[in-house]
Amino acid sequence: MADFAPDHAGVTPMNLRTAKVAVKRIAEFATAKTAPLLWHRRRGSLVVLMYHRVLPPGDPRLEVEQPGMYVHPATLHLHLRTLKRHFQPVRLDHWIRAARDNAPLPERAFAITFDDGWADNFEYAYPLLVAENVPATIFVVSDLVGTGRLFWPERLGTLLRQGLAQHAAKLYSLSEFAWLRTLDMPIPSSERELDPELLDRIVNGAKRDDDATLCARVEAMAARLGDSGSPRTAELLSWDQIREMAGSGLVSIGSHTRRHTRLSDALTPETLHDEIAGSRHIIESNAGCEAPLFCYPNGDATANVRSIVSEHYQAACSTLPGWHGVGADHYMIRRISVHQDITCDETSLLARLSGWI
Ligand SMILES: [Zn+2]
Repeated sequence: MADFAPDHAGVTPMNLRTAKVAVKRIAEFATAKTAPLLWHRRRGSLVVLMYHRVLPPGDPRLEVEQPGMYVHPATLHLHLRTLKRHFQPVRLDHWIRAARDNAPLPERAFAITFDDGWADNFEYAYPLLVAENVPATIFVVSDLVGTGRLFWPERLGTLLRQGLAQHAAKLYSLSEFAWLRTLDMPIPSSERELDPELLDRIVNGAKRDDDATLCARVEAMAARLGDSGSPRTAELLSWDQIREMAGSGLVSIGSHTRRHTRLSDALTPETLHDEIAGSRHIIESNAGCEAPLFCYPNGDATANVRSIVSEHYQAACSTLPGWHGVGADHYMIRRISVHQDITCDETSLLARLSGWI
């Protein structure tokens, strides 16, 4: 019987992972070849791509960044050239206005969006947008522009790395860091264990609590480690950079609230109004351009939130996946999220755009 016994000895987790990668690659290849053949049926459709950061390999800013947050400049360039072969580039606010006015629309269009207002958008993405003549919308967080401050997930990553370097596993016996033990997941006991995937899980696990709680925790952690909160380099856009890009006509600036607050009905009506309408006022007075588009932080939007947004904006982007169309809800624009680890070449980008896998 031994001759016919299955040989489990050769099946290792590594082999399984390699096999899964190979199957995924074959599926991507087949999808990338067939999906575009059907796109002629989607007349009047708009593909909106969602980016965050654009940073080159080895940039120190990637050390505490989640994998889903960035593409490398060469990847963005490849995306722009690939997209132009299949779709017409449009500025999102222009396309929305045309759709609302029943004006003629391109047969198939794509619009680029960047969330959060990272300085690397100016440094690495803007030159590529100019070179390829592709418009984009950057959704900025009005109160963080030009301040040198950061969002809590990046601050958390920096502080964890710093704290682990100083205290290793004893870090969690400090009262300011003890809450991390209550997350339902393994936490790193050394700086080496804090890889991007684990940081991603910690950030997503922390989101069970509201923004005010998380910001207060991060501030307490920073105070304990004596961290001033100033990043080594300016991580977010300045008003000068925003004005330069907006002045080109190629980039439109949209609102992503005042403080990147996740919008829910638990917030007071005053706070919601301030985050939604207040941010537009600040952006328009500092950037010298109109800001007719909004983007929900973390994609969070209730019916009430959408209703307030619709009073103050022409349209709003969600994080729901898929294509947008003329008849779709302009206050819940679907987008395709793209990042380095899943769309690093033409095949994976086209497969991603199909929405099939
Ligand atoms: Zn955001």
